[in-house]
Amino acid sequence: MKRLLLSVFVFSILSLIACNSCEAKGVKSKRKLAKRVKVDRTKGETVVNDSVMVVADDNITPKDIPHEGFVYVKDYIPDIIEDLRYNTTNNFMGERADGYEANRAILTVEAAKALKGAAEELRRKGYVIKIYDAYRPQQAVNHFVRWSQSSDERMKAEYYPTLTKKSLFGGYIARKSGHSRGSTIDMTICHLATGQEVDMGGHFDFFGTASHPSFVGNYPLGTVTAENKKMRLMLQHVMRKHGFNSIKNEWWHFTLRNEPYPRKFFNFPVK
Ligand SMILES: [Zn+2]
Repeated sequence: MKRLLLSVFVFSILSLIACNSCEAKGVKSKRKLAKRVKVDRTKGETVVNDSVMVVADDNITPKDIPHEGFVYVKDYIPDIIEDLRYNTTNNFMGERADGYEANRAILTVEAAKALKGAAEELRRKGYVIKIYDAYRPQQAVNHFVRWSQSSDERMKAEYYPTLTKKSLFGGYIARKSGHSRGSTIDMTICHLATGQEVDMGGHFDFFGTASHPSFVGNYPLGTVTAENKKMRLMLQHVMRKHGFNSIKNEWWHFTLRNEPYPRKFFNFPVK
């Protein structure tokens, strides 16, 4: 036993000596994190949050990079729930979209960092983020356009019961999407304790006024209540606070205000 303890002790000492400069930096920055959080607690919650967000980012080394300037969101927010609908048949087309080869949310580094701040605030409120879509390759958008010109209406009842398929193009489906710029996200929140989605009174990608964040009332698939609206606006409030813009017709859609590639549309696949 004594011999075992001695070897553990010797091994620990050797490991410390072998610690390279990079690891040493990591240790230092963890210490810095603890110190800053402690100091900043006296200044109020917002300052603490910002401090944690900025310092924590220094410690993140994404395991693999999907494309220069882009990261896998899970590397920044490990508990995020990914449900990339265009990688499945559970979407308005009823088929998997071109360019989706994995259930992995990708964003620009800047958008992932901002989302991390929002995730931390939502977690303190008891919620975890669920992602429906993030970076979307141009080839998927081309697929949407091709689909909008076909006669297939298998998902009409669930996604566009009151609209003609022809009318979707222009209003809801376009040749270019902000998602292809890599700093736009479609999301909701789930209860941290149960993993259950928060009831927003309507589902992702429902084409109609019931998806407007401030809508309250009946629509063909049910009712959006005042409580549902409150949750939509709470999500909107947190996302805006962390640097994202919301839009008036989709409660789940947010774009980073200072997106790094405002005019560039990417086409590398999601894998
Ligand atoms: Zn969207």
